[in-house]
Amino acid sequence: MRFQQSVIRNVVYPLLDFVSGSTELRYLKFYEKSQWWGLDKLKQLQEWKLKRLISHAWNNVPYYRRVFKAVNMRPEDVRHVEDLEKIPILTHENVRHNLAGLVSASTSKSSLFRFQTGGTTGHPLILFKDKNETSSSMASLYRGWEWCGYEIGEKMAQIWGVPIVASRYKLLKERLRRVATRDTLIGSWNLSDDKIEQAVKRLNKEKPTFLRGYASPVYLFGRFIEKNGINLKFHLKGISTTAEPLFDFQRQTLERAFNCEVFDQYGCGEINSIGFECEEHTGLHVPIERVHVEFLDEKDNTPVSKGKTGRIVVTSLDNYGMPLIRYDTDDLGASLNDCCPCNRKLPLMDAVVGRVIDMIRLPNGDILFGGFFVIALEDMNWIEKYGIIQFQVVQQALNRIVMRIQSLRTPNARDLESFRDLVQKYVGESVAFDVEFIDEISVSASGKRRYIISEIDN
Ligand SMILES: [Zn+2]
Repeated sequence: MRFQQSVIRNVVYPLLDFVSGSTELRYLKFYEKSQWWGLDKLKQLQEWKLKRLISHAWNNVPYYRRVFKAVNMRPEDVRHVEDLEKIPILTHENVRHNLAGLVSASTSKSSLFRFQTGGTTGHPLILFKDKNETSSSMASLYRGWEWCGYEIGEKMAQIWGVPIVASRYKLLKERLRRVATRDTLIGSWNLSDDKIEQAVKRLNKEKPTFLRGYASPVYLFGRFIEKNGINLKFHLKGISTTAEPLFDFQRQTLERAFNCEVFDQYGCGEINSIGFECEEHTGLHVPIERVHVEFLDEKDNTPVSKGKTGRIVVTSLDNYGMPLIRYDTDDLGASLNDCCPCNRKLPLMDAVVGRVIDMIRLPNGDILFGGFFVIALEDMNWIEKYGIIQFQVVQQALNRIVMRIQSLRTPNARDLESFRDLVQKYVGESVAFDVEFIDEISVSASGKRRYIISEIDN
């Protein structure tokens, strides 16, 4: 381990944990060991954590006490993971309507982190996570990056969404963390050939050993590098893509452009790390030390057999602040039968269907990434303030974009103008941007769950 990298892993990360009161490194050390456990031992741990969580939910979480009583269930009725089926599924709507009741009465609200999700689904949601959950999920993410060849402390680059409206304090804090951990952030909201060219120059200067990001923007980088024959002055150990399915053509382009392997990762904002591809690329390993994943029939919620596609329903085992038990991710996937030659016994699932995040092409040649809109809603505090249920963005012409919003309350004129101004900055003055409030957003004729719709030829 090189000196600087060693200092970051052994000094900076423990210091960050100490200052923030988190336990990421402790979890990582544990996960580095548990990844080699046998399946029985892993399942024992999972079951033990599940029973503790159910008992906690019964004693401290008003929503679950009510739900358990409604189905005539006591915590001791859950002895094995299969017994979870007695508990009704938790939907987006359930969370939206029961936010306060889902927060544990034994946890101080000030100790919880507030998150917004929905950047990939068009259904924004506010929820809370405790420090244990964030530490566990980050550590599981670090372990997943290690499977891509990355070692904590090495230079990495992220092609990721940056905050749209944020306080100076928040921005400074994030910047300090990035400097301390040698992380280069490249904003991915609107990308053009010029911006990608500048960013590649920056990467050539920074020389990262690992790259991660949303699949589509990362692919745009790969395509640009290949098309223009750009000479890269760094060698990546691996690329990790997430938030959207990684298509074969994207993987192949990235492998050629960056001359390294590409690893798919699945997670959702509500629960984070759920599946990671290892060096054998046989599927995504599920970190069952921290989650329980079910694949259910879309119609009757019964478990589907291995290899069959079903709705992904996840229980997070570490979030006591706001337990999510049998949470419906609204994604589709399947569990796989195969053993992985990597010798890890963590079960495998297949890549996920759904969550295709479309992009918007702007008259100036920029490409605006769909994930931008949910961050704009959250940064303006609209999701909670106006009870945003769902939204859809339609590009009707190159210079005309309409955002349709279904919400509990309609924003006042001043907030509406601020929101329009904010989006206008990103789409440019030549684009007419309108916001419409409607009662219900219809499903597209294709039945696809896309929330960014482009009616122009790309
Ligand atoms: Zn494996």
